[in-house]
Order: sequence, then C-alpha cells, then structure tokens
Amino acid sequence: MKLSKKNLDQKLDHVYDVIIVGGGVGGLSAAIYLQRYRLSCLVIEKGRGRSFWMQDLRNYLGLPPTTPGRTLLQQGQEHLLSLEGDYLAGYVEDLQDEGDTFAVKVKVGKKDSVYPVFRSKYLIAASGIIDHLPKFEDMQNVFDYAGYNLHVCMICDGYEMADKKCGLFVASEAAINTAFVLNWFTPYISVFTQGLFDVSPEMRQKLQEHGYPLIETPIQRFLGHDHEMNGVELSNGSVIELETGLIAMGSHYQSEYLKNLDLEWNGGNLKTDSMCRTTHPRVFAVGDLKEGLNQVSIAVADGTLAATAIWRDIRRQSSPRIWQD
Ligand code: FAD
Ligand code: FAD
Ligand code: FAD
Repeated sequence: MKLSKKNLDQKLDHVYDVIIVGGGVGGLSAAIYLQRYRLSCLVIEKGRGRSFWMQDLRNYLGLPPTTPGRTLLQQGQEHLLSLEGDYLAGYVEDLQDEGDTFAVKVKVGKKDSVYPVFRSKYLIAASGIIDHLPKFEDMQNVFDYAGYNLHVCMICDGYEMADKKCGLFVASEAAINTAFVLNWFTPYISVFTQGLFDVSPEMRQKLQEHGYPLIETPIQRFLGHDHEMNGVELSNGSVIELETGLIAMGSHYQSEYLKNLDLEWNGGNLKTDSMCRTTHPRVFAVGDLKEGLNQVSIAVADGTLAATAIWRDIRRQSSPRIWQD
C-alpha cells in the first residue's frame, strides 16, 4: 500500500524482508520480483531521480522510443501496489546495521517532517546518481533544455546527436576526452570549459588537430525555445550556434545513507558480484549506483538478479512447506 504520514505507524513494527532505497527503474524492478516471490518489501523514493528526468527512453526493447521515464515510474508503482508492495515518498537519511536487521531512518515530508524508522532483513541500494549540470544564476535556463536536446548520456543519446553541431560542456580536463568518443557520432564538436579549469598545452594541441574549437569564456545562457537548445550566449555577448549538446560534468552518487556500512567501492560506484550483492551479504546494489553501464535495461535486469538472490537466501533458510490435511 501507499504509505504516508497518516498510515505509516502501522508498519513500524513490521520487519520487511527487503527495504529498497530508491524507486527508480532498478528499485521498482526489484520490488515487483520480490513481491512475486511472496516476500514483503518497502520502496522509499524521494522523487526527481534520473528516471524522472529522462524525457524519452530511446533504446528499450518493446517500448516506443518516445516513452518518458515517468511512464515507467507510474506503471511500476501501480504494478507494485497491485502486488501489495509498500511505497513511501520520503528521503532515506540514515541506516544502521543491527545484526539481523537494518534500521532505516526516513525523512517524510519536506515541511513538518517526521522521521520514522523502518526495519528489514535485506537492503537494496537503488538510489542512483544525478548528473552535475552547468551552474548558472538562472538554473531554469538550464532545466529548460537538460534532458531534451541538451543530453547527459552519450550511450542513450549519441544517435540523436549524429552529425550535428554539438556543444560538449565539461568541468575537468579528463572530461574533454569525451570529445574523442563523441566523434564516433559527430565530428562537429565545440568544447566549453567556462574557464573552470586550466587546459594543458597537450590537450589544446589535440583539440586543434581534430579541429574542435575550445571555448573557455563563461556562458551567459543557453538559447532556444520549446526545450530545443540552439546555441549559447557567452558572457562577452557573442553567440555560438549549436544543434545539440552533451553535458559531461560528472555525477553526484546518492549514497550518503550508506556511510556507516563497510562496503567496497570503485570511485562512487558500489562493487557487487554477478547477482548484485555487495561485499555486505545482506546489502545489494542495482542500477547506476553500482559498477557497470548506466542504462534502464541494466537497472531493470539488476533488479531481477538482486531479488532472485535474496529469495534464494530466504527460501533456503525457511522450513519446507508440507502438504497437511
Ligand atoms: P534512478 O532511476 O535514478 O533511480 C534512483 C532513485 O533513487 C531516484 O528516483 C532518486 O530520487 C532516489 N533516491 C536517491 N537517493 C535517495 C534517498 N536517500 N532516499 C530516497 N530515494 C532516493 N537510459 C537508457 O537506457 N536510455 C535512455 O534513453 C536514457 N536517457 C536518459 C536521459 C536522461 C536525461 C537521463 C538523466 C538519463 C537517461 N538514461 C537513459 C539513464 C537512466 O535514466 C538510468 O540509467 C536509470 O534511471 C538508472 O536507474 P536507477 O534505478 O539505478 O536510478
Ligand atoms: P533532492 O536531491 O531531491 O533532495 C534534497 C533534500 O530534500 C534532501 O536532502 C531531503 O532532505 C529532502 N527531500 C527530498 N525529497 C524529499 C521527500 N520526498 N520527503 C522529504 N524530504 C525530501 N531540477 C529542477 O528543479 N527542475 C528541472 O527541470 C530539472 N531538470 C533536470 C534535468 C536533468 C537531466 C537533471 C540531471 C537534473 C535536473 N534537475 C532539475 C535537477 C535535479 O533534480 C537536482 O538533483 C535537484 O534539483 C536537486 O534538488 P534538491 O537538492 O532540492 O533535491
Ligand atoms: P528467445 O526469446 O527464445 O529467442 C531465441 C530465438 O532464436 C528464438 O526465437 C528461436 O526461434 C531462434 N533460433 C534458435 N535457433 C536458431 C537458429 N539456428 N537459426 C535461427 N534462429 C534460431 N520471462 C520473463 O521474464 N517473464 C515471464 O513472465 C516469462 N514467461 C514465459 C512464458 C513462457 C511460456 C515461456 C516459454 C517463456 C517465458 N519467459 C518469461 C522466459 C523468456 O521467454 C525467455 O527468458 C526469453 O525469451 C529469453 O530471450 P532469448 O532472446 O535468450 O531467447
């Protein structure tokens, strides 16, 4: 059922089999499998994740390439509720490993917040990442285009950028190397650093050899209309025309609540085995937060794997059901 401030008290004594932090595509996929394995699970979702900002899911088998992420989220929530899974809008702040259970502290309500603690035997970290975007005084100008033709994922949207005039927006020298992969799709690349860092002479030379302009002047704003970005205006007033863009400014890994656990990481990504189990036997990680490709197809498959491994664990510890008249 859908939990809220009004009814969540009913579940505070219940020990869930699994609490899933994050109700994006990975978390919802795990939850649907878990409920169908007749386990009990609670999905906790703060809202506004990557699945939510994905305007079109362009590469998922069986769905039209214009399907927005929000459709998957809504359908997934309905599917979960129809299987009697629990769903709560809230932000997971903290997590304690109590031995046999986890205590998961949640902030519910941005105003007049309450802080219930839910318990489960297993935990699935499905909280993903969120892309860093250019920081402008007027962020609405960025939001008008980010996720539309100002892309954040080359694997997802390289095809959309093919042979177009593309701005590559970076915040580090390492990220400039994205240009030398992006050029598989288009060679018409202008690199924008906004003067955030110094570019080495070697990199300048390499960009020059490829014919990719390097623009270090800060950006005043994106230009365009109806979510179609068609250029940038620089702080010196000059305008550069573009047809599309790729933001490659890194990501924030949404894993603060895991800080008390002893887990193995590769940078910001959690390390897992082939069934998405982390180095803690009762903690699983799925989707963008774990190592691997950041794709919907992978997050959905991860959810299947994690749920199945948890079911296997719990089933093997349970006594067999005997047919008794
Ligand atoms: P998410 O979908 O991000 O879900 C994680 C959830 O956890 C979020 O909803 C977040 O709100 C929640 N959360 C985080 N921290 C907490 C917390 N502490 N408490 C409670 N909740 C929390 N992939 C494709 O395959 N094809 C595409 O065409 C495509 N296009 C994309 C376009 C854009 C603009 C973006 C941003 C991404 C795109 N992706 C695409 C990538 C895809 O969205 C991700 O790979 C996918 O959503 C990962 O699923 P996930 O469940 O791991 O993470
Ligand atoms: P969050 O990271 O969601 O949460 C911050 C804090 O709020 C948390 O610490 C928690 O205390 C609290 N909180 C959050 N949810 C809850 C809850 N349900 N209950 C209780 N407490 C909660 N942003 C926009 O505003 N508009 C856009 O159009 C937009 N487009 C984007 C497009 C793309 C492609 C991308 C990658 C990002 C976009 N963003 C947009 C920005 C993105 O959502 C930011 O991560 C977000 O704005 C961060 O805001 P926040 O820190 O307030 O929220
Ligand atoms: P397939 O979908 O079997 O595709 C392999 C294809 O290769 C076949 O179409 C075959 O004709 C073709 N092929 C084989 N040899 C050759 C050859 N030499 N030359 C040319 N073509 C060849 N999974 C779920 O996730 N959920 C469900 O609810 C579910 N229900 C199912 C119900 C049924 C009745 C069945 C049979 C399966 C179900 N599955 C379900 C499992 C799911 O169908 C498989 O896991 C999935 O189809 C595997 O995909 P695949 O591409 O590996 O194989």
